[in-house]
Amino acid sequence: MTAEIEFRGHFRATALGMLQPGNWYLGFRCQACHETFAVLDDLTGTGEIEPMGAGVFEVACPVCSAANRYQAGDMLVFQSATAQAGQDVEPNR
Ligand SMILES: [Zn+2]
Repeated sequence: MTAEIEFRGHFRATALGMLQPGNWYLGFRCQACHETFAVLDDLTGTGEIEPMGAGVFEVACPVCSAANRYQAGDMLVFQSATAQAGQDVEPNR
């Protein structure tokens, strides 16, 4: 069963600097360098989570430092392959 998580409003988020390989995260693909970075732990721990809502995240990419705005609907769910913040991943959505 997929859990839904709804974001409303404006969030000033900080990208996670270190990831736990094998863990699931919610994040975005950087608009500038196209690396994927995480902003939140997937609380289900399984990747079976569906971000939704009209929320907007303002967050700086940990790889290239570009600060941009991202829609909750563009949020990616991915399993980290490495401990690095920026990585090329296959999101499950
Ligand atoms: Zn970037």
